[in-house]
Amino acid sequence: TLSERLEGILGRLRGRGRLSAADVDQALREIRAALLEADVHVRVVRSLVDGVRSQLVGEELARSLSPGQQVVRAVHRELIRALGGESLRLTYASPPPTVILLAGLQGSGKTTTAAKLARWFRQQGHQPLLVGADLQRPAAVEQLRILAEQAQVPFFSQPTDPVQVARAGRQEAERLGRDVVIVDTAGRLAIDAELMDEVRRISEAVDPHYTFLVVDAMTGQDAVGTAEAFHATLTLDGLILTKLDGDARGGAALSVKEVVGKPIAFAATGERLADFDLFHPDRMASRILGMGDVLSLIEQAEREMDRDVALKGATALVEGRFTLEDFLTQLQQVKRLGSLGGLLSLLPGVPKELKQANAAIDDREVARVEAIIRSMTPAERIDPSIIDGSRRQRIARGSGTSTQEVNQLLRQFKEAQQLMRQPGLLAGMLGGRGKLA
Ligand code: GDP
Ligand code: MG
Repeated sequence: TLSERLEGILGRLRGRGRLSAADVDQALREIRAALLEADVHVRVVRSLVDGVRSQLVGEELARSLSPGQQVVRAVHRELIRALGGESLRLTYASPPPTVILLAGLQGSGKTTTAAKLARWFRQQGHQPLLVGADLQRPAAVEQLRILAEQAQVPFFSQPTDPVQVARAGRQEAERLGRDVVIVDTAGRLAIDAELMDEVRRISEAVDPHYTFLVVDAMTGQDAVGTAEAFHATLTLDGLILTKLDGDARGGAALSVKEVVGKPIAFAATGERLADFDLFHPDRMASRILGMGDVLSLIEQAEREMDRDVALKGATALVEGRFTLEDFLTQLQQVKRLGSLGGLLSLLPGVPKELKQANAAIDDREVARVEAIIRSMTPAERIDPSIIDGSRRQRIARGSGTSTQEVNQLLRQFKEAQQLMRQPGLLAGMLGGRGKLA
C-alpha cells in the first residue's frame, strides 16, 4: 500500500534533523510510484506531487514532527485537497421538490444507490420519493420497488417510457408533498449514443437540481473515461462512488474528481442500504494512505446505535481505555449492526484470525458473555486483572457458566483490548484529526 511505501521513506528519513533537497526528491519519486500503483491517474499524480513538493520546500520543519512524518502529513493534506477538501453541503430547492438524477454504466450501482440515498434523506428528516425510470428490463423496476420498501420510501414507476416516467414521477412528488425526488435511470455496459440520448432527455424533462454520476470504484482508470463522457452530455454536479468496500484503494476516486472537476458527494461501502454516507475527503485520504476507514465506521455505527454509547466507546478506544463494560456494549451493538466479522473486514489492519474468530460469535454466545460480565462487580469490570481464582469461581457460579468459560471470555477480551490498542488502528481513527503516523 501507499503507507507501506511511505514507511520506507520514513525509515530512511528518521533521525535526520531536517529535509535536504535530495531527501525531498527521493521521497517525491517514491510517492509518485506509490500513487501510480494505487491506480491514480498520471495527470493527477503530477499535480499531487507538485503540491507535496511546494509544501515540503516552502515549509519550516515543524518541531513536533520528524522529517518522515512531515512528508506523510504533506501527502495527506495534498490528498485531502485533491479529493475536494470538505464534504458536499446539499441545498434544497424551494419550492420543493429537489430533483436528483442518477446516471452511470450498468452495474455501477445506480439502483442500489438510489435506495441508499432515499434512506439517507429520510434519516435527514426529508420525505423522498423513488422513481424507477429504468425500463430496459422489468426486473430493474421490481428491484427498485423492493429496495424502496426496505428503505421505507414510496416508489413510483409506470410502464410507459423513461422520459414520461421521470416527468410523471416529479409531478407525483408534488402531488404527494414529497420534498426529494430520486430518479433511477438505465445503464448500458459501455457508453453508447442511445443511452446518452435517453438520459439527456430524462434530464431535460425533470430539470434536476443535482445530477450525480454513479461510479464503481473498482473500475479504476476506466472510471475516468466514463466520467468524462457523461460529463460532456449531462453536466454533472457530482459523483457517487460505490463498492469502496472492495479492493479498490481509492485511486479512481482521486482521478475522477480531479479530471471531471466535480466533488465526490457520496460514497457506498457495501451492499446494505446503511453502507452509505456523505463522502469525507479526509477519511478517503487516510484510506488511500492505507490507514483504514475507521472514522466512517464509527459514524455509521453511531447512527445505528445509541449515540452516547457509541461516543463513549469511541472515546475509550482512542484513550486506550477499553473495559469489559465497553466490550459487552460493543458486542451487543455489533450484533444489531450485522456481523462483527463484516465490520472488521472493512479494517485493513485487523488480523484475519481475529476476523474469523469474531465472525463465529453467535447470539447464544453474546448472551453467555453478557451473563458473565453481569456477574462481575464494577471494579472487576474496570480492571479484570484483579479476578483471581476465587473471584473466577464466584463469577462462574453467578452466571451459570464454568470457570473455563470465564477464562475464555477474559482471554477474548484481552485480545480485543490489545487489538484496540494497535497503533495503526488508532492512527486510522485519528486520521485527519490527530497526529499522523
Ligand atoms: P445498476 O445496474 O447501476 O443499477 O447497479 P445495481 O444497483 O443493480 O448494483 C449492481 C450490483 O452491485 C448489485 O449486486 C449491488 O448489490 C452491488 N453493489 C452496489 N453498490 C455496492 C457497494 O457499495 N458495495 C458492494 N459490495 N456492492 C454494491
Ligand atoms: Mg439499475
